[in-house]
Amino acid sequence: MYKWILFLLLVSTNVNAQTKYYLTADRVFDGEQMRPGWAVVVEGNKIVAAGLGLSVPTGAVKINYPGATIMPGLIEGHSHLFLYPYNITDWNTQVLKETDAYRTIRATVHAKQTLMAGFTTTRDLGTEGAGYADVALKRAIDEGMVPGPRMLVSGRAIVTTGSYGPSGYDYDQQLMLGAETADGYMILKVVRDQIGKGADFIKIYADYHWGPGKEDRPTFTLEELKMANEAATSSGRYFVSHASSKDAIRRAVLAGAETIEHGDHMDAETGRLMKEHGVTYFPTLAASEKVTQYRGWKKGVDPEPKNITEKKQSFKAAMESGVTIGMGGDVGVYPHGENVIEMELMVEYGMKPVDVLKAATSVNAKALHMEQQVGMLKPGMLADIIIVGGDPSIQISVIRQVKFVMKDGVVYRQEK
Ligand SMILES: [Zn+2]
Repeated sequence: MYKWILFLLLVSTNVNAQTKYYLTADRVFDGEQMRPGWAVVVEGNKIVAAGLGLSVPTGAVKINYPGATIMPGLIEGHSHLFLYPYNITDWNTQVLKETDAYRTIRATVHAKQTLMAGFTTTRDLGTEGAGYADVALKRAIDEGMVPGPRMLVSGRAIVTTGSYGPSGYDYDQQLMLGAETADGYMILKVVRDQIGKGADFIKIYADYHWGPGKEDRPTFTLEELKMANEAATSSGRYFVSHASSKDAIRRAVLAGAETIEHGDHMDAETGRLMKEHGVTYFPTLAASEKVTQYRGWKKGVDPEPKNITEKKQSFKAAMESGVTIGMGGDVGVYPHGENVIEMELMVEYGMKPVDVLKAATSVNAKALHMEQQVGMLKPGMLADIIIVGGDPSIQISVIRQVKFVMKDGVVYRQEK
């Protein structure tokens, strides 16, 4: 009991910032490959050594988990910390009826759940009606006020007039939208305004399911997207795009989007185009599966719905095209802390577990422009380290057995 209290004090006051740690398990996944028998040495908030036969520094705290794997803190590539599962409360209600204050309090809980599940960094792709509360949450986490992952935030995100929701209400009502509208030259002003208010990057919806039959159709023109890109890159930011249709993926890529989100209708040709332009693809398999399940699909019991079959085909086409694939599941559609679902589905849909581990660490770090800080266990990197039971390169689900979580050299979780 006394030890536990002391541990909490150390964590909460951050006085252990210069503590040295000597971490061992059966193996280390360094962000690229499995390294049997390696150790990792941490000093303060940095990794100072990782390799075989390292000596234990004087005074180091020894952490050893037999049978387990030491890994870089995982990186969620596509989250919405201000949303929670739509089978609990539908999206329209969350956006329209819940106050930003309530949603922010919830988001602090979601942030803690994310960190405790071993995800020490997240890229959050829009508050969906909660303004710039993500900028505030990021600050509170960085200041150590609430536990949570490192955040890269996009604020409100950008859509065209007429395309986005909530929709279907009496037009006499002036409803807020889940994102900010911009059309024509206005997109320059909106991008700059979002950057000024704290967006780390710009999220744009290059298409939406607003076609005559509710199919995905492009929203912005190529020219509009190019203007957004110029405004974003001039300031040292970049833009990423929601895009499911081939036309929208093409426009977004040609305009300079760095990542494509969802890509439900992607094929070999669009995959190749993305590869040529150095774009990273975030498939959000988990969002597709969960939304379909919320509509009544019983996986493993009912026949596979067409949209899921198509999603599997598009993921296969993406893999064959050689485009870089990141790990981002659109978590928030499903519970925060269950981020691993996307990793499990990537394996189920045909990716090798070790490639999924890379996607969730070194590949995502690069896509987020954070490869100098996180995503690898090597000297000079920030001490974002987790330990999971078993070998996730054999069985991806052992990522669920989180034994230890360290972020920035501070221990947040330590199981027996
Ligand atoms: Zn999303």
